[in-house]
Amino acid sequence: MAAARIKPRTFRAYGRKDLDSIPELRRLSAEEFTGIKAVAAVLPFRVNNYVLDELIRWDKIPEDPLFQLTFPQVGMLDPADFRQVYALVKRGASEKTLQAAARTIQAKLNPHPAGQMELNVPRVNGSAVPGMQHKYRETVLFFPSQGQTCHSYCTYCFRWAQFVGIDALKFANREAESLVAYLRQHHEVHSVLFTGGDPLIMKTRVLRRYVEPLLGPGLEHLTSIRIGTKATAYWPYRFLTDADADDLLRLFEQVRRAGKHLALMAHYSHPRELDTPEAQAALRRIQTTGAVVRCQAPLIRHVNDNAHNWADMWRMQVRLGAIPYYMFVERDTGPKHYFEVPLAQAVEIFRTAYRRISGLSRTVRGPSMSATPGKVVVEGTATIAGEEVFVLKFIQARDPAWVGRPFFAKFDPTSTWLDDLVPAFGERAFFFSKPLRTIKRNRHAPAWGERVVKRRPAVVFGHVEWE
Ligand SMILES: *Cc1c(COP(=O)(O)O)cnc(C)c1O
Repeated sequence: MAAARIKPRTFRAYGRKDLDSIPELRRLSAEEFTGIKAVAAVLPFRVNNYVLDELIRWDKIPEDPLFQLTFPQVGMLDPADFRQVYALVKRGASEKTLQAAARTIQAKLNPHPAGQMELNVPRVNGSAVPGMQHKYRETVLFFPSQGQTCHSYCTYCFRWAQFVGIDALKFANREAESLVAYLRQHHEVHSVLFTGGDPLIMKTRVLRRYVEPLLGPGLEHLTSIRIGTKATAYWPYRFLTDADADDLLRLFEQVRRAGKHLALMAHYSHPRELDTPEAQAALRRIQTTGAVVRCQAPLIRHVNDNAHNWADMWRMQVRLGAIPYYMFVERDTGPKHYFEVPLAQAVEIFRTAYRRISGLSRTVRGPSMSATPGKVVVEGTATIAGEEVFVLKFIQARDPAWVGRPFFAKFDPTSTWLDDLVPAFGERAFFFSKPLRTIKRNRHAPAWGERVVKRRPAVVFGHVEWE
């Protein structure tokens, strides 16, 4: 078995308070080091011993992409905010003072983009199911309460707010029961996507409590179970030598035997994450269970904003039997200004990389924005009747009728998100703008089908912030 050749490693996580115990950081100047501490007071930080020892190239910090991916960077905060926390850290301010300053800054960083909190929360028999999101007809997202952390945090995470202790904003659901109840009523749902955090932070016996009920009677319409994870990149031992690694693989096999597809939606940001013996052994073991690994990641400045990274990554994925799936555009939250890549540049990087790979890798789609109305892919730029435009298309939408319909926005080299775009050809609004307003007004997503109560539901989190 592949695992036999890999030496077990005991997981050790390093958080903000452990920065002093990472000797490699002494390569940085005192200012840089204090700067990292200051940013880590505001944005989540967690890294593990595998990432430190095998993924980061310490002789290349701070530019090293894996260092940028996992360690807070000075440029991530607004300069005035940074100066404030930097001064507090430097003079050894109390934890209470530091936290108070951090909370104020966090609140300014659009902690919950794309109407995630309210617009997507479905209901069973009239009551909200808070650990679940149902935005697209065929797929529900489920956030198991024990899966809301990760083996290491990505600095660009769009769910960063749930890691900084704003408890009321956490999605959580202790019960698999309400998920099953919802699915029994919703035969249009074919796919359940476990996400987080990282669901594979859970011990297998806990994960099993969520997955097994989905294999039972009354859920024959469910064809696939997906697990969104970065464990394949950040902690491959989860599939190799951890005490419950074998049990996890048995669970994958069980899904397969129950006649359903198990898709591991693996988050790979950089080709280096696929390049270690551990990462490759993990993929081999996962594949022995019949599970299929599909790969997705956002395009991130300082981490992977060039075509050769993506072409390498997609080629390596196919070589290792995994399937390139999505390239995302960085979302409009947190330190977006630090990581963002303009759409015009994103589409160029995508096309350049796409040209360099065979058809087997061209299963990938992107660059795609997970925005309020849906997943919008930038197909390219074109000049139509003398006007330079972006050609756009929904690959998922709140209203399934919008999917696949091309639409056009004025070309603008600086736009980074759907909200920045203006309709082309003198149109006053995009075709989906009015129906989206209706969806928001009715608080009823077409994805939820007809069975959902028609009356206006109560507000779930005390405020409504439709985007
Ligand atoms: C991406 C996404 C899904 C899954 O969409 P697929 O295109 O089927 O991969 C489901 N729900 C939400 C909210 C998503 O963002």
